[in-house]
Amino acid sequence: MTDFRCGLVALVGKPNVGKSTILNRLVGQKVSITSRRPQTTRHRILGIKSDDSAQIVFVDTPGLHARQPRAMNRYLNRAAADSLRDVDVVVLVVEGTRWGEDDEWVLERLAGVSCPAIVAINKIDKVADKGALLPYLDALAGKREFAALIPVCARSGAQLDELEAQVRSLLPVAPALFPEDQVTDRSERFLAAELVREKLFRKLGEEIPYGLTVEIERFREEQGVLHIHALVWVDKSRHKAMVIGAKGQLLKAVGREARQDMETAFGHKVFLQIWVKVKEGWADDERALQSLGYRDEG
Ligand code: GDP
Ligand code: MG
Repeated sequence: MTDFRCGLVALVGKPNVGKSTILNRLVGQKVSITSRRPQTTRHRILGIKSDDSAQIVFVDTPGLHARQPRAMNRYLNRAAADSLRDVDVVVLVVEGTRWGEDDEWVLERLAGVSCPAIVAINKIDKVADKGALLPYLDALAGKREFAALIPVCARSGAQLDELEAQVRSLLPVAPALFPEDQVTDRSERFLAAELVREKLFRKLGEEIPYGLTVEIERFREEQGVLHIHALVWVDKSRHKAMVIGAKGQLLKAVGREARQDMETAFGHKVFLQIWVKVKEGWADDERALQSLGYRDEG
């Protein structure tokens, strides 16, 4: 095909604006995460959306995740610049109609970026006064040159097709970087494990036990519901207690949030159960070995 488009797209924005939700929605069922994620030289691939006319490769942007003390700024500017080099489109995600210091911080990191940028104004479902949206769009348009400003709602999916269309139109004409991976059971399992791991890491923060792994023991559709069993493996029983949390609250929250993300990603109702197990003598336990990646690839 002569006008096939392909390029790298970075979703940037302060924490909690909905970047992951947008990514899951856009990539959706077509998420082609494999057990060994493809790498470009500088980027970690978060998700790939391929079809007959384009391949959109979403990449992570180290250096743009958290505000840091001033002393770190020079380092972070360089990290951000590095991660944004070679990117073809930047999507700056903001929420509601309030521009904050953290948004400004992210915008500053985009100062030297020459590729086109789009603003996605997310969570418009939470904007009670829709009249406030227009002046906010004007204010945003004055901050930098943007190729487009698009109000979206990642939760309902509203306007995400418009966002995707804009992204596509800005991609260079180029052949696909990666094979159009089929959505395999294995890649979906892998994504399910990643989602549980992500929530655990978020909740445990600094306390994250070394050696924690997540394994999907069961991934099966029954009567329209995906039944997913996740095993969280830890090295020590006190780590088990940490993961479960007081009155089971931590694990419950992890399960709730992971399930919501899975339902978005898989487009299915999900019944998720999570168990925490201590890997005693794990070297003898083939299952634990597999979960740690010592798998016979066959
Ligand atoms: P990230 O930190 O930027 O990746 O943000 P997440 O994608 O994890 O989303 C943060 C929170 O915002 C989650 O609780 C989402 O469910 C919620 N969220 C995302 N998009 C929307 C939206 O369009 N409307 C509303 N009301 N909430 C949203
Ligand atoms: Mg996220």
